[in-house]
Amino acid sequence: MNTPNPNIAKLDLKNKKLLIMGAGKSGQAAASLALQAGGSVLLSDDKELKDIQNIDWLLNNSHVQFCQSSKLSTQLNGVDFAVISPGIPSNATSVLNVQSKNIPIVSELAFGASFMPCPYAAVTGTNGKTTTTMLLGLMFSKGGFVSHVCGNIGFPISTAALSANPADRAVVEVSSFQLEFPDGLHPKAAAILNISADHLDRHGSMEEYISLKKRIYTNMNGDDFLVLNSNDKSLKDAALDAKANVFWFSSEGEVPMGAFLKDSNLYMRDGNTEKLLCHIEDIQMPGLHNLENVLAASSLAYLMGIPVPVIRHSIKTFNGAEHRIEFVKEINGTVYYNDSKATNPDSTIKAIKAMQSPVILIAGGFNKDTPFDALAECIVNSNVKAVVLTGDTANQIAKALKEYNYTNIFTTDSLNAAVLQANKLSKPSDVVLFSPACSSFDHFKSYEERGNHFKDIVNNL
Ligand code: ADP
Repeated sequence: MNTPNPNIAKLDLKNKKLLIMGAGKSGQAAASLALQAGGSVLLSDDKELKDIQNIDWLLNNSHVQFCQSSKLSTQLNGVDFAVISPGIPSNATSVLNVQSKNIPIVSELAFGASFMPCPYAAVTGTNGKTTTTMLLGLMFSKGGFVSHVCGNIGFPISTAALSANPADRAVVEVSSFQLEFPDGLHPKAAAILNISADHLDRHGSMEEYISLKKRIYTNMNGDDFLVLNSNDKSLKDAALDAKANVFWFSSEGEVPMGAFLKDSNLYMRDGNTEKLLCHIEDIQMPGLHNLENVLAASSLAYLMGIPVPVIRHSIKTFNGAEHRIEFVKEINGTVYYNDSKATNPDSTIKAIKAMQSPVILIAGGFNKDTPFDALAECIVNSNVKAVVLTGDTANQIAKALKEYNYTNIFTTDSLNAAVLQANKLSKPSDVVLFSPACSSFDHFKSYEERGNHFKDIVNNL
């Protein structure tokens, strides 16, 4: 374990017993934080201990016990509260068991956040979270702060809290899964970037998904700032509902208060002052959606005290993240892009709209019960000359396309075959865009593995 952080040690969990649900990365991070704050830990997981990786360091601590989820109901005596990992749905049997004993549950995110010693911003939305979070993290560090970039981005906030100091700044990427138990989450500034259909297999309905996203501002008050996309209908009522001060961002026109695009420039309007943030040519990432991410990150940075010249400089130097409309290679005049992180239809729609040349789209993947009609409508109305499908959802996407009378569809049985098919169809000046519109779990461990596999295939063509 690391050297104890004095900021954590003074937040006393002595004589407190915490149930940490989930023994993966987030759960282990929460357990480590709980131990440093003086608590004792009952760690639970659906898996048997022998199937959990890299856990010995934790179990060697005499204040940690392990219990498999199926046996949890007999082990709950004396537990003060539970910390839940994002992978566990709120209707899991173990959660119902804990709730039946009136034990409060907080998410790992909210637990870690309650120990974060420095001001932090939070970023949620269906798409653009990682891009916006990374850009904001850069703005903090270019502004001279030690910057902690954490949360859903793959680095638990519980770990970040262990090394943070009061003078630092943090930015937390927040998923809908992490908002199921939000008590303790209180960002200084938060953004909801956009909301479109995703994760309906877990949340059940669009209404439930939207209401979860809005929990990001539950604990924010009149000293805090909420940044909302003014072009997203489902966010209009959040402005009335939230107690925080609302700033808008828009790529479609001016806003009364906030950041917007006008005449190829991005501006920040705050009361009577209006400041030029940058020119659109300063943005290195393609597409209007990325311009929206820039508006959101700039707003959060501005509201947390970062000077406009620093914001502008950060925008100019940020190239975007891997697996998001990532240039891979040009072969005989055809450019190949890896957009493996497009795990829902809206992100693929945005990628198609960001392309200037005829597109051969490779799509398909794990089935999350997401409808594909909006994607099909976008494809028939854009420059997509062929669609090559692969993965579990291939037939569903093909069906949606046929309903829109789009017929230039090729179905293949592997990503390798899909790339070869796209290569065969391509002409100079075309783009081959791998933007699956679905998660990767049908054939891959993660979108990173899928994106790397795509890049390997392209590089070996
Ligand atoms: P998230 O962390 O929310 O998944 P990312 O920044 O990782 O967001 O981007 C995920 C996918 O969504 C990528 O394919 C990217 O090109 C696309 N995307 C990024 N920003 C937006 C946005 N504002 N609206 C729609 N799609 C976006």
